[in-house]
Amino acid sequence: MKRRKLIAGNWKMNGSHKANAELVAAIAARAPELGLVEILVCPPAVYLESVGRHIGNAAVALGAQNLCEQAAPGAFTGELHGAMLAEVGCRYVIVGHSERRALYGEDDSRVAQKFLAAQACGLTPILCVGETLEQRQSGQTEDVLELQLGKVILAAGIQAFARAVIAYEPVWAIGTGHAATPAQAHEAHAFLRGQLRGHDAKIADSTRVLYGGSVKADNAAVLFAGEDVDGGLIGGASLKAADFLAICVAAQARAAG
Ligand code: PEP
Repeated sequence: MKRRKLIAGNWKMNGSHKANAELVAAIAARAPELGLVEILVCPPAVYLESVGRHIGNAAVALGAQNLCEQAAPGAFTGELHGAMLAEVGCRYVIVGHSERRALYGEDDSRVAQKFLAAQACGLTPILCVGETLEQRQSGQTEDVLELQLGKVILAAGIQAFARAVIAYEPVWAIGTGHAATPAQAHEAHAFLRGQLRGHDAKIADSTRVLYGGSVKADNAAVLFAGEDVDGGLIGGASLKAADFLAICVAAQARAAG
């Protein structure tokens, strides 16, 4: 099955009104020639609405970096409900990013709740999974991926992945400049797709699995070459228009080839 490539920019806690406007203008200007790729930007929540206005009618989707796991709005100071994110134009939301797992104590069960909360509001969750360096070095990579993905499959059911994206993000590759080798990425992606296939072949064929972790303009093409790699979740390189667009061009070339 042909899965549309997705290149998602995770801006993390970066940006300003001026920088965002310039970045979005540059991406939107090139979007028409990148039609084989779905382009997504995920700015900090405070900028979602203004970034949505900058996007206007351009073929660039808007996503959030996090949401509250609570089913209903209410007394949860500092949190954001999925319906609010949808109301300001989000179509996607990242859940379970390793920074949230490591720095904000999000465990697999909370990540699963966030996944459910996103879908309940019509948002497509981008579920991040990935092993630490220690886990990789001790041969636990597949066990970790199976557990992280399995918890969400158990909570949401396999059919929920018809409206979800998975991002394989080895923790040791995020923000370090040391991307996984294409072989490591392809192996992990094939494993994740195999996990889906164990539940439902159609879902396995249709679910997009992104690679994230130090994707740059110069390694995007080789990372995207694997048949189970459906694009990328891009951190640092999503903040510079030229770098982000070069990654989108690599995905477009892969999709066309
Ligand atoms: C990320 O934060 O999801 C990420 C992949 O970051 P970077 O591209 O900077 O490694």
